[in-house]
Amino acid sequence: MKFAIRLIIFYFFNVTFVLASPCVILISFDGFRWDYLNRGLTPNLVSFASKGVRAISLEPSFPSGTFPNHYSIVTGLYPENHGIIGNHIFNPFYKTVFSLRDSNAVTDPRWYLGEAIWETARRQGILTASFFWPGSELTLEYRRPDYFVPFNSKIPYKKRIDSVIQWLKLPYEKRPKFITLYFEETDKKGHDFGPNSPQVDSAIKICDNLFGYFLEKLKNIQFLDSVNIIVVSDHGMTEIHPNQIINLSKFLQVGEIKANSYGYLVSISGNKDSISKVYNILKQNENNFNVYRRNDLPKNLNFSQNPLIGEVVVLPEFGWIVAIDSSEYTYKVKATHGFDNHWLDMHGVFIAGGPAFKQNYTTGTLRNIDIYPLICKILNIVPRQNIDGKIECIEYILR
Ligand code: AMP
Ligand code: ZN
Ligand code: ZN
Repeated sequence: MKFAIRLIIFYFFNVTFVLASPCVILISFDGFRWDYLNRGLTPNLVSFASKGVRAISLEPSFPSGTFPNHYSIVTGLYPENHGIIGNHIFNPFYKTVFSLRDSNAVTDPRWYLGEAIWETARRQGILTASFFWPGSELTLEYRRPDYFVPFNSKIPYKKRIDSVIQWLKLPYEKRPKFITLYFEETDKKGHDFGPNSPQVDSAIKICDNLFGYFLEKLKNIQFLDSVNIIVVSDHGMTEIHPNQIINLSKFLQVGEIKANSYGYLVSISGNKDSISKVYNILKQNENNFNVYRRNDLPKNLNFSQNPLIGEVVVLPEFGWIVAIDSSEYTYKVKATHGFDNHWLDMHGVFIAGGPAFKQNYTTGTLRNIDIYPLICKILNIVPRQNIDGKIECIEYILR
């Protein structure tokens, strides 16, 4: 009799433990602007959101670019603090360059400060996996997910999903409890054709179909009701007006400086005298742009506490592009992002569902830096201290 009771207790605790062990799947649709969900093209995403949580928008961090924001989402840090201050970064001290197109740079841990959620989780005994995410391929083994795949945009979207399903089918002790998935379709079509194009509408439908496909697969392996799914995007997209491109080259002929132009920002570094000269010239000619010394940048951008940001920074006003050579922008793209993260066009999406989340719940704009502590809370792990995200700003969406 005693043995039978013990057996029941043993099974109760173990089965409860297994069932209660939470799982989070984080999906990013790159450049999926917040309002794309309102176009009547996304039945799967909208229906999932209506059963779970939907935020009006997800505010990115500044600059509203792909690498800075994907890394903010998984670290809870502003780019000024996690170090990935752009897709392309110039280090004026070592004269090195980070570029998302350079696999040596992308995998070099020295660019990435802070701690990604997979590092936090691994250290606390939780297996993690990533089918693409900026910062998931570092050459230091302990700084990347247990399972990861080097970025390769040629891998078909459905194959990415099928691989995640395979991970979920692994035996319990090998199965990851935190997984990322990434799709670039809306960003690509957004740049090439603009956010209001039929091509972007098709891209939105492709994303929604993929999401539907994923839910169906989860249902087939009987995981749909037990996993927590968070769908995000890193930023939105805004149209470029070819006649609204500021050409700074004529102001920059002042000797020893290095200027890097990104459209949403021009970053200038150099010797003290030249920097002062450049600042003064630009200040006198401020027209559709604003020039700042690094430490005087608007506080709400949270973009000054990093020595890799130029000593002088030029930001365009809404609707404008800042360039050194305007021809860089006139032909390349129809739309872009990277601008002030408070502009609504730069906002992305946030929807979530699963056992951890409230049901049928709509909320206002969320900040992407709060997602790291949110995931830690769902996974029952202790987040890294000294992050910018605050669990108090987001935990109300949990049950
Ligand atoms: P952008 O529009 O310049 O901010 O960057 C978007 C592009 O980043 C996508 O089209 C992808 O090709 C690329 N990308 C996304 N994730 C990664 C990654 N993990 N490694 C390298 N490139 C990536
Ligand atoms: Zn992006
Ligand atoms: Zn983009």
